[in-house]
Amino acid sequence: MKAGNKFERYVETLTGKLKPITQSEQAEAFRRTFPNAIKIKNKTTHVCLECGHEFESTKDRGTEVCPHCGKRGEVLKGQPQKELRYYAILEKVEDLQVIRYFILNKWYYKGMAYTFTLGEVVQRWISPDGKEAIRALPKRPFINCYTVAWAFGQEMSFKRIRNVKYSYYATEEYDYPAKVKVRSLIPYFKRYGWKKTGHTPYTTLSLLLHSPHHGTLYETGQLAIFGHTSESSLNRPHYGAAHGKKVSLWQIAKVCTRNGCIIKDFVTWRDILDNQQERGRDMLSPKYVCVSQGELKKIHDRLLRQRQQRERMDRIARGENLMKNKKELSLVNREYKRMHKKYLDIFFESDGITFRPLQNVQEFYEEGKVMHHCVFTNRYYTKPESLILTATRGDKRLATIEVQKHPFRILQCYAEHDSIPKENKKLRTIIEKNEKLFHIKAS
Ligand SMILES: [Zn+2]
Repeated sequence: MKAGNKFERYVETLTGKLKPITQSEQAEAFRRTFPNAIKIKNKTTHVCLECGHEFESTKDRGTEVCPHCGKRGEVLKGQPQKELRYYAILEKVEDLQVIRYFILNKWYYKGMAYTFTLGEVVQRWISPDGKEAIRALPKRPFINCYTVAWAFGQEMSFKRIRNVKYSYYATEEYDYPAKVKVRSLIPYFKRYGWKKTGHTPYTTLSLLLHSPHHGTLYETGQLAIFGHTSESSLNRPHYGAAHGKKVSLWQIAKVCTRNGCIIKDFVTWRDILDNQQERGRDMLSPKYVCVSQGELKKIHDRLLRQRQQRERMDRIARGENLMKNKKELSLVNREYKRMHKKYLDIFFESDGITFRPLQNVQEFYEEGKVMHHCVFTNRYYTKPESLILTATRGDKRLATIEVQKHPFRILQCYAEHDSIPKENKKLRTIIEKNEKLFHIKAS
């Protein structure tokens, strides 16, 4: 489509002023867009996408090092194939801001190193007073979605903004994943600087142009809130405040900023807000909406503890199996006795408190069950350098103590549920007084 209005005719006069992409900019684009990858070709073969070398491996996650080129890469699932990524360059031409979108291809051929190609596919021209134009390559319709549909070799032409909503030029397929490189900004954007927010480059610039509240979030460093909201979701009165007033996320964000609370983890923060909302809190009170990093950490830790609890239950389940498996149990016991045979008859007493090592796996199981800690589930009976003592008064278990045999040292001393024993100091003093018992054994 030819330039159809005054703004587009103006843009047309400027297109020749866009600077070409230099070799070093190309190299930078590829480096930033394609971190090296090791692809799983089949169950036993991996392919290094850096050098094309195929080698034997069965690793299906994490990273590994290519034995040929020595580069570390992330292990990716899926057959090696052509990869496409988008890249955006922000450039100022006269008084207009341009977002130039490039498609980067990394071509992979069996047994060969990859090759790169780069092509410009879309330009979005933005004026500080809100006018916009799109220039783009044509797209081939009805093409298999894994194939590049951009018609390279043809001329870019104007695409009407009016129809853009309903066309593939606005699907954001090129905008959303694009990594951004800033060449130059017009003064309106320059005063904000370029910050990474989680929004696409186009959305970021248009929010800065059209949504003053977003401009404030950007300037005050509330980038997580900026990056997770649209103009309408930021300003919708959704939360309850005192006197039945409805307030928006924007008003809550202002409370945070005023109180020096910068939200880094938007998703956790919003969960907290929803939680406070359910409890009918005043959502303009800093007490309920300002969440320090420490509190976010607490919430994070709570989730972590819940996970650990689940894992502990799994371990206990495995331990129960050990207790039922007589053959394995006697093997483990024999090994335990062999490791600690000089130590197992240690016994000492003071102030009515007796100390002795746990004698076998059954006793570890009992101790863990009664004391509600992990001495059994964490398989402390397999540690050759540690001896586990139990301290009792009459029938009552006071504490479980891990001592290092040589050089002698108390490693840990815990009562039920991993709590600090009431007579912690006394217990430690008694053990230290009897340290020589362990020395004799070690000699
Ligand atoms: Zn390699």
